[in-house]
Amino acid sequence: MRALVKARAEPGIWMEQVPVPEIGPNDVLIKVKKTAICGTDVHIYNWDQWAQKTVPVPMVTGHEFVGEVADFGSAVTEYRVGQRVAGEGHIVCGHCRNCRAGRGHLCRNTLGVGVNRPGAFAEYLALPQHNVVPIPDDVPDEIAAIFDPLGNAVHTALSFDLVGEDVLVTGAGPIGIMGALVAQCVGARKVVITDINPVRLDLARRMGVHHVVDASKESLRDVMNEEGMTEGFDVGLEMSGSAVAFRDMIDTMNNGGKIAILGIAPTGFEIDWNKVIFKMLHLKGIYGREMFETWYKMIALIQGPLDVTGLITHRIGIDDYQAGFDAMRSGNSGKVVMDW
Ligand code: NAD
Ligand code: ZN
Repeated sequence: MRALVKARAEPGIWMEQVPVPEIGPNDVLIKVKKTAICGTDVHIYNWDQWAQKTVPVPMVTGHEFVGEVADFGSAVTEYRVGQRVAGEGHIVCGHCRNCRAGRGHLCRNTLGVGVNRPGAFAEYLALPQHNVVPIPDDVPDEIAAIFDPLGNAVHTALSFDLVGEDVLVTGAGPIGIMGALVAQCVGARKVVITDINPVRLDLARRMGVHHVVDASKESLRDVMNEEGMTEGFDVGLEMSGSAVAFRDMIDTMNNGGKIAILGIAPTGFEIDWNKVIFKMLHLKGIYGREMFETWYKMIALIQGPLDVTGLITHRIGIDDYQAGFDAMRSGNSGKVVMDW
């Protein structure tokens, strides 16, 4: 079968022929229909320090996908051939303390599809049945293909009660914008999103985020005044991985504010811990999605008030994958969906 392989320890990604993955008794073989490119895939493409120490080569990449069940192992009873499915890309061990307590997202032994084991940028993907998620008929393929990052946004946004709260989202990348839209859907009072890239700010405006702020030009204090917010933000969603943005967020949180942190900073950075202490802030790191409560809620949101279709800026055939990676690497795209 054809697959996009990180074949060599150098920048790039290559279309190669590889064997169709073998399935064990508990696995489902999925015929991949659409995939989307994640920031993680860009790190792997660029072969940065994180990728070099994390990803063994050769590796079939990719983890954002939708497809159809093509085959399954002898212990699989829940699925039928032809069924539309997506899936959770974090494979957990099932025997550590958190897994046994039903908190799979906190597993210490998590393996990543397309990072530590063969991924979804391929004609076929083998996935443990536990990780497979059926997709309802009324959810379009291209939306199911971006459920992985939408799940990051939903997990982050629903970490704290947002009803009637003033929410600051730093970073208007695809995940930040989705997080802001989720906050609006579930009843936040004000939602402010920041970025420094005009293309991303424009995308946030077009997606209907309440208040879009160019952090390179406007101060959040002025924005608070404009919005009639005298005390500060109640909830922060850090989606930029930028130290400057995170420090601004800490500065503008109300006492007792809650911050969920998804953005991954490229290097270590300093914050004023005394502000965290004297403001009595709650900080919560977020990794991946909750298994499988996030999936349940995100599907319900998509079937209800949440529309993220406008975030897909590129729809391309898989033969044009290089154009897709170029768009993602430019930092000026929304989601790039590739048709297999
Ligand atoms: P992205 O890189 O597309 O978006 C980040 C945005 O932050 C960009 O638009 C960038 O211009 C903006 N930004 C940079 N500096 C800023 C500043 N000073 N103020 C405001 N905005 C600023 O990333 P994404 O795909 O939307 O993902 C969001 C973040 O979440 C990234 O850091 C990514 O690495 C991280 N991530 C974490 C997980 C996890 O499980 N923890 C999963 C997926 C992604
Ligand atoms: Zn575990």
